[in-house]
Amino acid sequence: MPRAHNFCPGPCVLPESVLSELSDEMLDFEGSGMSVIEMSHRSAEYDAIHTETVDLLRSLSGAPDDVHVLLVQGGASLQFGMIPANLLPADGKAGYVMSGSWAKKAFADASRMGTAYQAWTRGEGPTAMPEPGEVTVEDGSAYLHVTSNETIEGVRMLTFDGYDVPLVADMSSDYLARPIDWEHFDLVYGGVQKNLGPAGLAVVFVRDAVLDRVPDSVPSYLRYDFHAKSNSLGNTPPTFSVWAMGKVLRWIDANGGVSAMEQRAAARSGVIYDVIDGGDGFYRSPVDPAYRSHTNLVFRLPDEDLEKKFLVEAEAHNIKNLKGHRSVGGMRASVYAALPDEAVSTLADFMTAFADANG
Ligand code: PMP
Repeated sequence: MPRAHNFCPGPCVLPESVLSELSDEMLDFEGSGMSVIEMSHRSAEYDAIHTETVDLLRSLSGAPDDVHVLLVQGGASLQFGMIPANLLPADGKAGYVMSGSWAKKAFADASRMGTAYQAWTRGEGPTAMPEPGEVTVEDGSAYLHVTSNETIEGVRMLTFDGYDVPLVADMSSDYLARPIDWEHFDLVYGGVQKNLGPAGLAVVFVRDAVLDRVPDSVPSYLRYDFHAKSNSLGNTPPTFSVWAMGKVLRWIDANGGVSAMEQRAAARSGVIYDVIDGGDGFYRSPVDPAYRSHTNLVFRLPDEDLEKKFLVEAEAHNIKNLKGHRSVGGMRASVYAALPDEAVSTLADFMTAFADANG
């Protein structure tokens, strides 16, 4: 069976070379007589993998020295609660930019734990993201939470400049597909199962200065200072996910790093948006063109029957996972780093032919 053209929003397609290496090394990792997932997380072999993975995250992201790189289980969802638990004082408050479905979940958990307020909500009209001047940050806010890219609605924030408060950013769906402008952030987090590896981990970048704020009542595993002091080895880490992510990070590095990934995402999403915009109205994007995501491209067809037909015919062309999130319907093509260019051109050709045949 040829490899599918896999547009899954997460878990996502990984580089074929990484999958081959994992398979080659599965029975015997570097002459150890065992696989990485069978060995002690205190072994020299695993230690080298862990260290290289963390070092690559630091170098690829350009994180400054006062930022810790943490590997935490529980995905991005656990961070929705860990962030207020660690960073939001009992007598403090935090603003949330309500950009979409994931921001809503982050806000809901923060509201359970302390005082959170909505610093921006979307108006009527095409889906969009705010410009800094439109966000209301209340005096005394501990942080402003933003979602750099809303995976379900397919919108991306253009800039993190111009906020007078430290930012906390969920970058799950464009992690290392755009540079991180460190001067603005106290904390950056994301699940790794989109651009960076298999599921099982969140990568959290957190500034050293905020670790002093963590209340004593927060249990060990939920404390950023616990992970920082133990180099994310305070308990048994998900060794497979770290091992595989390390290989994907090497692949990103060898393919030009974050700036190359950013250019690639812009160019490849542009190919599909050109088909959407050039189809005489057959395809429709619900997103304001200025804020369209470079990684999650959402679009509609003229009606739901045609959408069903589109999905069936796409499958027949070995193009998979184009169904939009169940909460919004329509189509979504997720174009993450490891997706081969050929998958993008195959989808573009298929979309053009489908519009010609059904328009
Ligand atoms: N934030 C964003 C932007 C996401 O896309 C997702 C997952 N799709 C999450 C958070 C939740 O991530 P996880 O499944 O790793 O908990």
